[in-house]
Amino acid sequence: MNESVYNLDNQNSNLSSKITVALERISEAYRVLLWEKAKEFKLSPIQIQILVFVNSHKSKYCTVSYLADEYNITKATISDSVKSLLSKGLIEKLTNENDTRSYIISLSDSGKKIITELNNYSMELSNPLNDLSIEKQESLWGSLSEIISKLYNSNIISMQRMCFSCKYYKQVPEGHYCGLLEKELKTIDIRLDCPEHDRK
Ligand code: SF4
Repeated sequence: MNESVYNLDNQNSNLSSKITVALERISEAYRVLLWEKAKEFKLSPIQIQILVFVNSHKSKYCTVSYLADEYNITKATISDSVKSLLSKGLIEKLTNENDTRSYIISLSDSGKKIITELNNYSMELSNPLNDLSIEKQESLWGSLSEIISKLYNSNIISMQRMCFSCKYYKQVPEGHYCGLLEKELKTIDIRLDCPEHDRK
């Protein structure tokens, strides 16, 4: 029996197959929206991702190596994008006091001027989610965080700043606990990208 999710007999009779393909469609929508924004600003998709990431993360994460891990691409590809962003005047290079062989990427004044418009490229994806009831959103987040955790345990995706890979995270009989915040975390409190994350 062909168990591929693309085998329509299997897909139409198996909910997990349908969900797998649905996630692929959503990821495709994300890619299309990113491309549209890239065309509008004459940037590449990864250049937009770098600008958005640098704008919202601590400087210790804004290095070529970290960005390569974050987006699962080579350092050479990130370096090329950084060179292009520098030539467009959208970023600056700062000295990395922790590692003199690398540098910190920071937004320039011109980069800061366009960041609000770049940041909203995924807005159309969040609109339908905002239409869901809070109960449905909570249930969806519970399922997604569990799927992300399993894919991380299978080394398929990185989970750089999520609770499950943090040294402060503990699984407790009641659910989850953060040792830094010293409080129980409900499923909705589990963070995907936490500024206080410290890798286990
Ligand atoms: S510090 Fe942040 S990532 Fe770590 S367990 Fe607490 S909330 Fe989660």
